[in-house]
Amino acid sequence: MPELPEVEVVRRSLSKFVSGQKINKVSIFNDKLRFKISQNFEKNILKQKITSVSRRAKFLLINLQNNKAILIHLGMTGKIFIRNKKDNSTLITSFYYNKKFKKKHNHIIFHLKNSVDLIYNDVRRFGFMKVLEIDKIKFNQHISKLGPEPLSKNFNFSYLKSKIIKSKRNVKNFLMDQKYVSGLGNIYVNEILFSCSINPLKQVNKLSNEQVAKIVLKTKKTLNLSIQLGGSSIKDFNGTSGQNGTYQQKFMVYDRINKFCRKKKCIGSVKKVYINKRSTFFCTKCQNN
Ligand SMILES: [Zn+2]
Repeated sequence: MPELPEVEVVRRSLSKFVSGQKINKVSIFNDKLRFKISQNFEKNILKQKITSVSRRAKFLLINLQNNKAILIHLGMTGKIFIRNKKDNSTLITSFYYNKKFKKKHNHIIFHLKNSVDLIYNDVRRFGFMKVLEIDKIKFNQHISKLGPEPLSKNFNFSYLKSKIIKSKRNVKNFLMDQKYVSGLGNIYVNEILFSCSINPLKQVNKLSNEQVAKIVLKTKKTLNLSIQLGGSSIKDFNGTSGQNGTYQQKFMVYDRINKFCRKKKCIGSVKKVYINKRSTFFCTKCQNN
């Protein structure tokens, strides 16, 4: 599932190709995504100019001139392809790298004025799209309960401290919960906790001040580095420029079961456990507190 860095990479790629373009036509081949595409979907966005592409947590927002926005969640396997009709070349905006995408999974195509098509392809159809009024986005059911953006100033030591003192949950679950901090998922929480040398099962109200400060710092650092490297290309994931992200080469613990610990001088190895049914990787030696 794409997490904040991958969605941000898609946003940046999309922004380059679609900002300022008008939506000429929309073809809906399958309206049964995670939520059914509304009947007014096309009417609400047709002939509208795309002013910008933004992101909130793991959601993309294609903002339109009529003060509406297309909210997109990529779910598990949602990908956006950009097809240039002039030379029939296709670029992938998604982090899942797979050039052999199947036409039967193309559910929605936005035909833009500059001979560019945006193709929404989603094998498992857990992704969705909705048109919202820009003014009302913050009240939307998917958006209203989201915690602060981890890369914003609102995600800081005093904020995190104020949230953890009331909670007895383990730190892995806590950071995965979108209401405390938004945009993180399984890969990055595993990696962040490793870089903080914190055990994923540690109860959050028992974290030291130093550990809380470390979580804030390492969260920002990890996400920024991944965005810079084009996100993580696991299985079949990549960015709009058609390039693979390379952050997966930097994984310290994720998907490295029984492998040696990558921390300098640590002789431990990576163990896998399940927390809340999600695979959790950590070093038993250096993440022991
Ligand atoms: Zn270690």
